[in-house]
Amino acid sequence: MTEVANKETHSFQTEVKQLLNLMVHSLYSNKEIFLRELVSNAADAADKLRFEALSHKDYYENDSDLKIRISTDKEAGTLTISDNGIGMTKQEVMDNLGTIARSGTSEFIKQMSKEDKADSNLIGQFGVGFYSSFIVADSVEVRTRRAGDPKDKAVSWISAGDGEFSIETIDKEDRGTDIILTLKDEEKEFLEPWRLRSVISKYSDHISLPVEMEKMDMGMPDEDDKKEEDEVVVPEYEVVNKATALWSRPKSEIKKKNTKNFTNIYPMILRTH
Ligand code: ADP
Repeated sequence: MTEVANKETHSFQTEVKQLLNLMVHSLYSNKEIFLRELVSNAADAADKLRFEALSHKDYYENDSDLKIRISTDKEAGTLTISDNGIGMTKQEVMDNLGTIARSGTSEFIKQMSKEDKADSNLIGQFGVGFYSSFIVADSVEVRTRRAGDPKDKAVSWISAGDGEFSIETIDKEDRGTDIILTLKDEEKEFLEPWRLRSVISKYSDHISLPVEMEKMDMGMPDEDDKKEEDEVVVPEYEVVNKATALWSRPKSEIKKKNTKNFTNIYPMILRTH
């Protein structure tokens, strides 16, 4: 580390505290939506990078292969959603993941509090999806570096969703954002490859960007596959969504909900596969 760590602790804005509390309690029956929200944020981050890179080619940092990668660590109990999109500066992290800037927050909170109206679509519409991470996670770390910023000017944001978050400057080699969820004991099912894969494909088939997961082991290992005790196993990844642009798919496949984020259908950032 080339810079002395400068950890700061901040309180969430009151509305965020209310919202976190509400989300965890009212969306409990539909908890898998956190993945929809995080994958959608990662896709938006890639769209923003493509757009900004039109005038700042250097933002690609020789890595224009934009993707989302989802990985798990069973031992640590973590689920990580990584993107190599635009990333965030420290100020952006403070603003985006500590406050709700939008107007109409109290109306939104009122809607969410009506027990029978706890509709997960409200989250996406209101733009507070990130906080849904706390439905399944005891703590969340965001490690992010904005495109074009120096490697030692990345940021780590950590919170247990209990009213405070800490923030510190870190080194991060790759541009973009890692969202690391330490899952609650009762939510460890999201570390199971089959369960995770089915949720991911449900929410990411309309995403025009490849979503990668670790390859699943499909059977008994061969003799040749036996690993040495101290061998480091580098995981292999494969694309698990259709990863085709929305506008290139048959109309019948395009459901209304797929158009939630306009950036996903914005022609300027069309990617061809
Ligand atoms: P929304 O995405 O609907 O605006 P969220 O609460 O999900 O609301 O996210 C708040 C903001 O945080 C986003 O608008 C974006 O600016 C920032 N953000 C979240 N995730 C990422 C990410 N993976 N990369 C870059 N910025 C992100």
